[in-house]
Amino acid sequence: MEVQVEESWEELRESFRNRRTRSAAWRKSQLRGLLRLLHDKETDIFNAMKDDLGKHPTETYRDEVGILVKSLNLTLTCLDKWMASSKVHVPLVAFPTSGEIVPEPLGVVLIFSSWNFPLGLALDPVIGAIAAGNAVLLKPSELAPACSLFLAKNIPLYLDRKAVKVVEGGATTAEQLLNKKWDKIFFTGSARVGRVIMSAAANHLTPVTLELGGKCPAILDLSSISSSRDRAAAIKRVVSGKYGLCSGQACVGIDYLIVDEKHASAVIDSMKERIKKLYGDKPWENNSMSRIVNQNHFRRLRNLIEDPAVAASIVHGGSMDEENLFIEPTILLDPPLEAEIMTEEIFGPFLPVITVKRIQDSVDFISSRPQPLAIYVFSNDETLRRQVIAETSSGGVTFNDAIIQFACDTLPFGGVGQSGFGKYHGKFSFDAFSHGKSVLRRSLKTEMSFGYPPWTDHKLPFLRAAYNFDYIGIFLLLIGLKRK
Ligand code: NAD
Repeated sequence: MEVQVEESWEELRESFRNRRTRSAAWRKSQLRGLLRLLHDKETDIFNAMKDDLGKHPTETYRDEVGILVKSLNLTLTCLDKWMASSKVHVPLVAFPTSGEIVPEPLGVVLIFSSWNFPLGLALDPVIGAIAAGNAVLLKPSELAPACSLFLAKNIPLYLDRKAVKVVEGGATTAEQLLNKKWDKIFFTGSARVGRVIMSAAANHLTPVTLELGGKCPAILDLSSISSSRDRAAAIKRVVSGKYGLCSGQACVGIDYLIVDEKHASAVIDSMKERIKKLYGDKPWENNSMSRIVNQNHFRRLRNLIEDPAVAASIVHGGSMDEENLFIEPTILLDPPLEAEIMTEEIFGPFLPVITVKRIQDSVDFISSRPQPLAIYVFSNDETLRRQVIAETSSGGVTFNDAIIQFACDTLPFGGVGQSGFGKYHGKFSFDAFSHGKSVLRRSLKTEMSFGYPPWTDHKLPFLRAAYNFDYIGIFLLLIGLKRK
């Protein structure tokens, strides 16, 4: 493996050095290659996703293939515009000058992806890296082996083997990769491994993007939602935002729900009904829910609810089938806040419902905890909405829905604080893998002599004017002077 890492790294370096990845034509051909791959191999993708996570093909299309197709189409449409340099205004002190920002690729980039969206979270950053003109090495997660193998087998068939590579493996391979110098590391995964990535990157002063997780809360402010239709829509979106995305194994999935105490039992009853509608009476026989990724995660989840105080708070579900790695959609009412289920990211189909006296108290509850990747607020109360935006910090806030922000690539996607840093999606992906180089052009013909020694007092007012006024200011000043 070490040899593969070494050889891959050398070849990618060489490809970048000889400018293979720079042209718009190369970038577009790779992006089109990815589109072809997604089109030609859709059935293989569905099968791999079924093997790794028991995901239904429709869910796979919604959360992975569809998102990638959309991302590729947007990138292909906008690439020329994104690659173009942009003119900037240059202050008077540098007159006569013109300035521009020229995006340039960072070089050879390393992408680590996680297992829960093993295709989407691997290829979406690859799209940004290629669009920005980089050579890329992707290491998919070893915990989704069928998808990892799919990528390793098919990427070389559709993309330039000299400039885009997939290396499979787990932590040992990752460590070997981290010993090499990269020009950017883009990591999706846990905060624990995020720390390993950052310290390895520090050795080479490599910039990193960390897409981490955390506990994404949802607030359901039932009092502000008056129509029964809207209430039903809100409940449906909460239930789906918890269980409907890889069975809760999603960084942007709802981790816990806050409701005011007077509505708690109505909310729980409606959620139970909705769970039945979405997954039937016997959800374990239904193929709409993904499976837990492996036994380790299954046991981790089981441990979360085995604590007697937590077990006592289960008000719906709780059954588990280790052989089939299936966990029933489960609701807990006010589990102890110091229990692991409320201090660690759940990453599974358990939904703690936390009650507060007044729904406004949810804002303090959230802001006294680590910053999540997303906050979801189901409310028609504009005051509460504004309060959440102003008084909490998170990667993003979504009102009256969950998850959907992930598909909106005109908005930057990424965390803050414990949920990571750096942004991607759409143009933000291009920027994440580019350096915006400052280019300043001056003429040799005009000289502002007051900017050079020998220093005299009469040069000072000119310098003051140059720093304090802009061209328009000077223009107005001159007009003003003339009028006098
Ligand atoms: P993980 O941190 O265990 O693994 C992520 C990647 O790191 C994998 O490729 C893995 O092989 C590699 N890795 C594992 N050990 C390593 C080591 N010692 N050194 C270097 N690399 C190592 O994460 P995971 O279990 O795959 O994913 C779950 C986590 O990812 C959750 O916390 C979730 O919230 C987060 N996540 C975040 C996003 C996001 O977009 N922000 C998306 C999905 C998942």
